[in-house]
Amino acid sequence: MPTGYWETEHLLRPADITVVGAGIVGMSTALHVKRARPEALVRLLERAPLSSGGTTRNAGFACFGSAGEWLDDLDAVGPHALQGLIRMRAEGLAELIRLLGAEALGLRWTGGWELLSPSEEDTQLLDRIHAHWKTLQDLAGDPLHAALDHLHPAADARPALEWDRDRAEALGATHAIHLPWEGMIHTGNMVAAFHRALDDAGVQRLHGVEVKGVSSSPSGWTLDTNVGGLHSQRIGLCTNGLVAHLVGGLEVRPVPNRVLVLRVAPGSLPEGTYHIDRGYLYMRTLDDRHVLFGGGRHWGFELPLPPGRDEATEAQWDDRLLAASRHWIQSEEVTHRWTGWLGVGPDRRPLIGESQPGLHHAVRMGGMGVAIGAQVGRELAANLLKA
Ligand SMILES: Cc1cc2nc3c(=O)[nH]c(=O)nc-3n(C[C@H](O)[C@H](O)[C@H](O)COP(=O)(O)OP(=O)(O)OC[C@H]3O[C@@H](n4cnc5c(N)ncnc54)[C@H](O)[C@@H]3O)c2cc1C
Repeated sequence: MPTGYWETEHLLRPADITVVGAGIVGMSTALHVKRARPEALVRLLERAPLSSGGTTRNAGFACFGSAGEWLDDLDAVGPHALQGLIRMRAEGLAELIRLLGAEALGLRWTGGWELLSPSEEDTQLLDRIHAHWKTLQDLAGDPLHAALDHLHPAADARPALEWDRDRAEALGATHAIHLPWEGMIHTGNMVAAFHRALDDAGVQRLHGVEVKGVSSSPSGWTLDTNVGGLHSQRIGLCTNGLVAHLVGGLEVRPVPNRVLVLRVAPGSLPEGTYHIDRGYLYMRTLDDRHVLFGGGRHWGFELPLPPGRDEATEAQWDDRLLAASRHWIQSEEVTHRWTGWLGVGPDRRPLIGESQPGLHHAVRMGGMGVAIGAQVGRELAANLLKA
């Protein structure tokens, strides 16, 4: 439908800065920009009614990784970059708390646990954890203390990792490693808090607007959308795994992740977050009767991008998740199931940059966008403001 006078001349008039994608990164970016430049027209465009990426569909771990995951990273990127990743997560979480407040996020410092089973893989992993225990403690300890000491209620001299025999026994694990710095947020509350903050700050938040392409124009940039061409001096692309639809040459692709919510007998799982299979599987308590169990990216299932569906593969994936969950917890019923999309690449580091003058991006949040998204948004906002 063509737009009319009020829309073209006022509501959709050229913006100073347009952010595309209302996930954690896009919402943080828009908020930081608007708070720094209240007089600017800051527009946030999102194709879905809420969001269609990981931001409304994640597990809500406020986490920094686990020993098994860190060992993978140690091999892939080395100790310096691994410490950088842990620092990014700790500082990112601190930034998210500063931005929205712990209460609005529903943040609970419950602690997390990595669970090891008697499988051959976990037995080998255990040997490696023993061999690298001190290295991991040293690499993780400093950034956690530096970023979170003033925010974490139990910060006093807590190490990054602690063996926990009682938790292992309670869950039938051969070993459990306590991650005392970890917590959980209420993802729904976080998104609602972002929306309130954006509206209060005066960001123009438009849902249902899909950007199909971007091109440079004499006065800046034109975004080709389903409501027509929109103009902006600068653009921040925050579409994570889907950024290749708008700009080429970035090493990031969308991959699906499945999640189940299981109804369990009251008190079946002690409150907390749990990492299994080097973090490829995870579970957390939602309330006394419900546990979220998800992951399985390492199994290699493929699903079509939304709005496509492949219900047969989804069912196979769910069966496999349910079978894996039975190792740790007995459930009565699956009450919810969904797919969320991650943006991943050759390593876990996000991509923040400017592909052409005025066209910026911050993408590839992997499985840690809750932790790092607000800090990544802060960085992108600074780039957009100084451009
Ligand atoms: C199942 C699951 C569990 C997870 N659990 C955790 C966790 O426990 N802890 C953690 O730290 N991280 C977790 N993550 C990762 C985290 O959720 C993501 O890294 C994070 O949400 C990514 O945020 P984002 O803003 O970069 O992207 P997204 O949330 O993907 O947002 C991008 C937005 O861009 C929009 N968009 C895309 N293309 C266009 C277009 N052309 N025009 C307009 N809009 C567009 C999409 O609709 C989407 O809403 C999980 C992810 C999944 C999928």
